[in-house]
Amino acid sequence: MVENRHFYNRHENYVEPSSAVIVVAGGAGFLGSHLCTQLIDSRHSVFCVDNFHTGRPQNVEHLKASERFTLVHHDINEPLPAAIPRCDQIYNLACPASPVHYQYDRVKTALTCSLGTLNLLKRAADDNARFFQASTSEIYGDPEVHPQTENYRGNVNTVGPRSCYDEGKRFAETLVTDFGAQHGLTTRIVRIFNTYGPRMHPDDGRVVSNFIVQALRGEDITIYGSGEQTRSFCFVDDLVEGFVRLMNANADIDGPINIGNPNETTVNQLAEQILAMAGSSSKIVYHPLPVDDPRRRKPDISRALTRLNWSPQVPLQDGLSRTIAYFLDEMRNSGRNQTNAFAS
Ligand code: NAD
Ligand code: UDP
Repeated sequence: MVENRHFYNRHENYVEPSSAVIVVAGGAGFLGSHLCTQLIDSRHSVFCVDNFHTGRPQNVEHLKASERFTLVHHDINEPLPAAIPRCDQIYNLACPASPVHYQYDRVKTALTCSLGTLNLLKRAADDNARFFQASTSEIYGDPEVHPQTENYRGNVNTVGPRSCYDEGKRFAETLVTDFGAQHGLTTRIVRIFNTYGPRMHPDDGRVVSNFIVQALRGEDITIYGSGEQTRSFCFVDDLVEGFVRLMNANADIDGPINIGNPNETTVNQLAEQILAMAGSSSKIVYHPLPVDDPRRRKPDISRALTRLNWSPQVPLQDGLSRTIAYFLDEMRNSGRNQTNAFAS
């Protein structure tokens, strides 16, 4: 069947191509698997490219039945395989996101952000594809401006334990911007603020999954530092909707866009909320704060609101409830199913 490649209006602020061929690098990870699901549901053909460093095939198991879904085991530090057909869009989500995992091999993380991103950009130029870069609120470092607007330039340590990721992502923003301008590509950069939801790995190491898993297992809740540092947590479904709107925005988007939930909470409050919701009697223990851990973080999302008509819809309580239900389900299945998150 010849696929219809005309465009349709899904929203006044953007047009999404119908039946596009889309590469999602890092597609077997937490965010990538939700993005792949939404793209398949929208009838696109998706090539999910992943080296399975932190991602897992089971995150996209539910998509394998679709003839429009292809899982490609590949490291983006090598050029994309020629077997992937000409594509219309490339989403670059490939990079470990949790401090524990991106610090495991810091040189590799820096290279994935630089060489890996360049490899994908070159392929976008060959195919004249739109390019979407997953950047991060970490590019603001330990921010002196609060909440963080896109024109704040950040306060980042270039040689600390988080630098491979923070500076890697900053360099990637530069590379995407300059490569796009030199090759006439349409590029988009999203600065993602802390996001949580189902399919986070129990060993991911980030705060929401750690606290939920600890609460459900009856283990101590590990708060780093005083717990008075803040984050603003966004539910994954909201974030992915923002991704698709940004990729397909018909307006000229000049520069990066923050996507996140501005509802700021302390780590202490988060721990109390998860303990109460999980009905857990785990006790809270305090550990040293990691080096360069940002003290506060909250996105200014005015640009996402005006350019994309996007704002988060899922309150923290609802998102946590869905995430706790997911982890409970994983725990219940762990004895029976060796491929689930608690077993791997
Ligand atoms: P994740 O670790 O679950 O997903 C990253 C995926 O990339 C994994 O599937 C991993 O195997 C894959 N990957 C890593 N290096 C690769 C390489 N060299 N080649 C191919 N695949 C590779 O993390 P996530 O939370 O889903 O994050 C996805 C993206 O979003 C990352 O780029 C991250 O920096 C960014 N981000 C996420 C958050 C968040 O709160 N989740 C916040 C800011 C930025
Ligand atoms: N954190 C914590 N206990 C944990 C994991 C994280 O107190 O078990 C803290 C961490 O020090 C940071 C905040 O929670 O202040 C968010 O950490 P996460 O790794 O989720 O994201 P990031 O630091 O990259 O925003």
